[in-house]
Amino acid sequence: MVESLTCQATKCIYNNQNQCNATAINVGGDMTQHGSETFCGTYVDKENMLEPEAYDFDNKVSSKSDMETAEGLTDFHGAPAVGCNALKCEHNHDYKCHASSVKILDENDGRAECETFKPE
Ligand code: SF4
Ligand code: SF4
Repeated sequence: MVESLTCQATKCIYNNQNQCNATAINVGGDMTQHGSETFCGTYVDKENMLEPEAYDFDNKVSSKSDMETAEGLTDFHGAPAVGCNALKCEHNHDYKCHASSVKILDENDGRAECETFKPE
């Protein structure tokens, strides 16, 4: 279980002072061996609500009312549950992240990389 998560992607609607206010996120990466190809699939650009990747995640924000719901999560102070399909990461067990702490980097071209990725 992820006990702490920091995130530098401050343009994401869920980002609150480098903490993530989503209750759950999904990280993508498939069979990559490189951390640079992982990304937070829950990232939503707060300026223009662009979603960088079509990815199946539970707390998808796709409308203004959803955005208001997301903003309502600002009282959430724990780390989100982290689902992940980067199966070649040492921390991945059955599509869940088991790293004690996770760091997500600032977005680059709409993708916020998981720095904690560790190849098996
Ligand atoms: S990019 Fe991902 S981890 Fe970072 S604040 Fe947004 S949803 Fe949370
Ligand atoms: S550390 Fe590995 S398993 Fe955890 S979210 Fe990052 S890429 Fe996925």
